Amino acid sequence: NRRVVLAQRPKGTPDESTLRMEEVPISEPAEGQMLLRTVWLSLDPYMRGRMNDTKSYAKPVEIGGVMTGQVVAEVMQSSLPGFEAGDMVLAGSGWQDYALSDGTEVVNLGKAPERPSRALGILGMPGYTAYAGLLKIGEPQPGETVVVAAASGPVGATVGQIAKLKGCRAVGVAGGADKCRYVVETLGFDACIDHRAPDFEAQLAAACPNGIDIYFENVGGRVLYGVLPLLNPFARMPVCGIVSWYNSPGLPEGPDMAPALMGTILRMKVKLQGFIIFDSFPRSLYAEFAREMTGWLAEGKVKYREQVVEGLEAAPQALNDLLAGRNFGKMVVKL
Ligand code: NDP
Repeated sequence: NRRVVLAQRPKGTPDESTLRMEEVPISEPAEGQMLLRTVWLSLDPYMRGRMNDTKSYAKPVEIGGVMTGQVVAEVMQSSLPGFEAGDMVLAGSGWQDYALSDGTEVVNLGKAPERPSRALGILGMPGYTAYAGLLKIGEPQPGETVVVAAASGPVGATVGQIAKLKGCRAVGVAGGADKCRYVVETLGFDACIDHRAPDFEAQLAAACPNGIDIYFENVGGRVLYGVLPLLNPFARMPVCGIVSWYNSPGLPEGPDMAPALMGTILRMKVKLQGFIIFDSFPRSLYAEFAREMTGWLAEGKVKYREQVVEGLEAAPQALNDLLAGRNFGKMVVKL
């Protein structure tokens, strides 16, 4: 059983000393346990936070501990009611080939689910994040302008497509011409701006002639500061992530932007609300999401793109790539 453990807490971007691959024997499941074989491992930006020893909504990974992560796995052996060999499940067993489980927080996907990796993306945590954050905190109204960055990724792509379904103008922000073209031509956003363009701020303003009513915050940094002067009175800002700062070892250099941020929130009466998808919404919302999203996908109203990385050994580099925008679509590892 190969597994990736946290060897050392990184300062800044993780490097070769951060994660270590180990080989241990496969454990025998006891009574009331099952043995899972990982088939798909999800890579997500929050994993960078789990490497830090800071107070957060979840405990950090311990030194020597297996990196956390959601997986789709096959049940190999089971003495648990409701799970039998051959079932595919959604579980939180992390970066390893095999894991034991007592069934807690495990969802049975059945024997042969269609495209099971979607349970890690559009039909799972990232898709639900977009749905709940946009609809419940953003409260989009027809005709409003919604801006979202990381627009080709699983959260941002879904935010913009739902915004369109609700009759809004959707403006994406993404890294590079290829991603921007995909966001407009395939996902159907009204515009998409490259955040690395020298005149990013001017291009964003031109793409939002009526200002911004909802800024779905995924990235922070330059995108956030470009958005601030464009916010309309009573704008809403669901704060979902700040990925541009996840690898920052300390405060960024440059002027203190807090006065500009707080001044805008005050003058424009902006509603700003952070959320953590696991515990910020009523449980009943998930069923609503699953039903609606399954329908939208089947009708072709929502499109979804994955980037598949081969092999557990490729996961550490792939996570760095994800944080730096060198992914194109939801990143999953095929074991
Ligand atoms: P993505 O697959 O979209 O990957 C992250 C993307 O962030 C990169 O591909 C890159 O896209 C973009 N990015 C990285 N650095 C910068 C930068 N400096 N400026 C602008 N963009 C940058 O990730 P997800 O869709 O999975 O997640 C999106 C956000 O949602 C993250 O912040 C994540 O932490 C958050 N999240 C929060 C949850 C919650 O419960 N609050 C749950 C799930 C996700 P590009 O090349 O286009 O710049």
